[in-house]
Amino acid sequence: MAPYPTDEKGHVYCPYCCRKFVNRYNLKVHVRDKHEDNSMDLNCQICGKTMRNQSCLRVHMYHHRKQRLEEAGIL
Ligand SMILES: [Zn+2]
Ligand SMILES: [Zn+2]
Repeated sequence: MAPYPTDEKGHVYCPYCCRKFVNRYNLKVHVRDKHEDNSMDLNCQICGKTMRNQSCLRVHMYHHRKQRLEEAGIL
């Protein structure tokens, strides 16, 4: 049984935004990227803010680190 709605040509549709994909694998990647709250890694461990993706989180964490160094008087 298909976990996602498909049409007669085998295209699959995102259940969240109805975008069409040529196969289930592409859809799975899309859902994971755009719709799933897919991990605690994407929440900032320091302030709890949710980041859209890993690189946002990395930049965000960099600011925290810099802030901490500043508070400690190192910078
Ligand atoms: Zn979608
Ligand atoms: Zn933070």
